[in-house]
Amino acid sequence: MKELVVATRNAGKLAEIRRLLEGSGVRVMSLEDFPAIPEVVEDGETFAANASKKAETVAAQTGLPCLADDSGLVVEALAGRPGVHSARYAGPEANDADNNRKLLEELTDVAADQRRAAFHCVMALCLPGEATRLFEGQVEGLILTSPRGVGGFGYDPLFYLAEQDCTMAQLPLDAKNRISHRGQALRQVMASLGACLT
Ligand code: IMP
Repeated sequence: MKELVVATRNAGKLAEIRRLLEGSGVRVMSLEDFPAIPEVVEDGETFAANASKKAETVAAQTGLPCLADDSGLVVEALAGRPGVHSARYAGPEANDADNNRKLLEELTDVAADQRRAAFHCVMALCLPGEATRLFEGQVEGLILTSPRGVGGFGYDPLFYLAEQDCTMAQLPLDAKNRISHRGQALRQVMASLGACLT
């Protein structure tokens, strides 16, 4: 396999995926290389449903092998929200800052030891003529009361990792990839591709 389309326009996700695929011999493209492809509507109720839909839709439109990541933040005190709605938690036009602000507001009265959360990622790999394959990763943490760090994207500045004693946004990209939900899922993708990558 020489080319892989990553079905995203999210620059943060793409940078992490590109780094993990560096040296694999695969030419990584994204939806930025296919500007005519419209946004895939993410109306599934699970990460798996949305990841499959994105991978299959973009594979059909490009005729190329396609990888899609659907991911998000699952907060225990919010009964799992924002979950599959993480990207647009604060509204259809919301950016990362808006989403982080809303998360802090919703957790205002929640005590430090009740702020457990996890990032979830499901990756769907759609190769021409084959059934879609799914891979998962997840990492646990706590939601802080104010942001720390400038790396990563999304909710990273509020996501505290006890073992590392820092937020996800304080980790360099390679360190995030070693432990993150996305890194875990993508390493399984690469193992599953095996000989195709050599
Ligand atoms: P998706 O494009 O529907 O998969 O939305 C993913 C959303 O989940 C992102 O826009 C972020 O808000 C959040 N998210 C997913 N992965 C991460 C991460 O690694 N760090 C921080 N936020 C993330």
